[in-house]
Amino acid sequence: MITDVRAMRNSINGEWVDSEGGVTESVPNPATGETIATVPISTAADVDRAVEAAKDAYESWALVPVPDRARYMFKYLQLLNENREELGEIITLENGKTLKDAHGEVQRGIEVVELATSAPNLMMGDALPQIARGIDGSVWRYPIGVVAGITPFNFPMMVPLWMFPLAIACGNTFVLKTSERTPLLAERLVELFYEAGFPKGVLNLVHGAKDVVNRVLTQPDIEAISFVGSEPVAKHVYETGTAHGKRVQALAGAKNHAVVMPGCHMEKTIEGVMASAFGSSGQRCMACSVVAVVDDIADEFMEKLTAATKDLKVGDGRYEENFVGPVIRETHKERVLGYIGQGVQEGADLVVDGRDKGSEKEQGYYVGATIFDNVNTDMTIWQDEIFAPVLSVVRVRDLDEAIAVTNHSRFANGAVIYTSNGKEAQTFRDRIDAGLIGVNVNVPAPMAFFAFAGNKASFYGDLGTNGKDGVQFYTRKKVVTERWY
Ligand code: NAD
Repeated sequence: MITDVRAMRNSINGEWVDSEGGVTESVPNPATGETIATVPISTAADVDRAVEAAKDAYESWALVPVPDRARYMFKYLQLLNENREELGEIITLENGKTLKDAHGEVQRGIEVVELATSAPNLMMGDALPQIARGIDGSVWRYPIGVVAGITPFNFPMMVPLWMFPLAIACGNTFVLKTSERTPLLAERLVELFYEAGFPKGVLNLVHGAKDVVNRVLTQPDIEAISFVGSEPVAKHVYETGTAHGKRVQALAGAKNHAVVMPGCHMEKTIEGVMASAFGSSGQRCMACSVVAVVDDIADEFMEKLTAATKDLKVGDGRYEENFVGPVIRETHKERVLGYIGQGVQEGADLVVDGRDKGSEKEQGYYVGATIFDNVNTDMTIWQDEIFAPVLSVVRVRDLDEAIAVTNHSRFANGAVIYTSNGKEAQTFRDRIDAGLIGVNVNVPAPMAFFAFAGNKASFYGDLGTNGKDGVQFYTRKKVVTERWY
């Protein structure tokens, strides 16, 4: 476990270097408020240096045979597996989520590296002999060049690993800009990467904030950008990046719904909704933030849900008894408290008030699990992504109304139905607008081997992350038509 205040540095061409600007920001442990690191707020010049290193490295990396690139990935996979404990501890230290959630994240991240080890299969093209007399046709996949990745604070390990392992296994080189609020894990990912023996410059890390992002969007030598973060920034990244001729995939914010039907397994549904809404302090892009519950069972559901929620312990994620850790920053906590106040003003019933539990904690940025009942779609707490352990409950007549309410959201990342009726599950799957759909599954988490992206305001782009989409995003195709005399 890291205890000293660490001075974070950029990694350019395989070397740890200071930012040219010299400006730094301190990084607190959200559970205690104590400073654990300082992070450089790098400049456009730092980005240019990193891109130059990535561009030089690309010349030779793209020519390394794909099976050899996969062998480097196998070594990286081994090192990540050997360091699982430490990686989980770093996530909890800088992000605040419980160790259990952190280790779940480590596992999800490692699965993407497992996927990247199959680059020889993933990159295969297609061939069709005799497309005309004496002529053969084939499709070949090539890397695209220097790729940049910009990531959020809420998954310091999994989201960067959605990006660079697959991009690099496909023969690209990479410039990573992780969240300035969670920079520690990124450094460890880079250290282990070079320990695995990758050539210098294949992966570069530039810490910082919007100046780094804005330079990435216009830097002429960057071919493609993978972004994951909030909706307004995703839109800006997509619009500016594509206007500068880059391929962009920008995964954005969310407001995920769970629909609770009369035939559901009540106990497991309560457990599932609580895990999804309050786990990781609600700071998951797949967190359940609205429940649409059918009137017939709404009273029973609310009674059991509120009783169980009141028992959830709030506190430092390092200790097993705590279920709800801190939110990421004091400013975010203030924003969340503002939303809770607004929900009360707008007339929703505050049946579990997390502000009480929050005030017991003097240090750290705590908001306890919070539930509003009788919410409607005109309320701000229903519409906005709050990104905290705050759950809104809407009472609906039937499945039709539940689907209408869910599809009314401007976001469409994930949606879950709790039911024991196959027809209801089938109807939900066919009519709901969301990128990930769960049936009696608390959090339908993105899995490495399937492509993932939301719909509507939850995604800007065409090809999602992971799976076959990821490979397509990080490669370009050539169709070859051949005749030999
Ligand atoms: P954020 O948008 O604040 O930050 C994401 C990245 O953008 C960071 O690297 C940050 O430095 C940079 N950035 C922030 N403001 C910027 C600006 N004005 N101009 C340019 N760059 C800027 O997001 P966050 O708070 O770190 O992460 C939480 C958000 O990410 C939530 O909205 C969550 O839903 C979303 N998220 C989505 C997914 C998904 O798969 N769709 C996954 C994880 C998180």
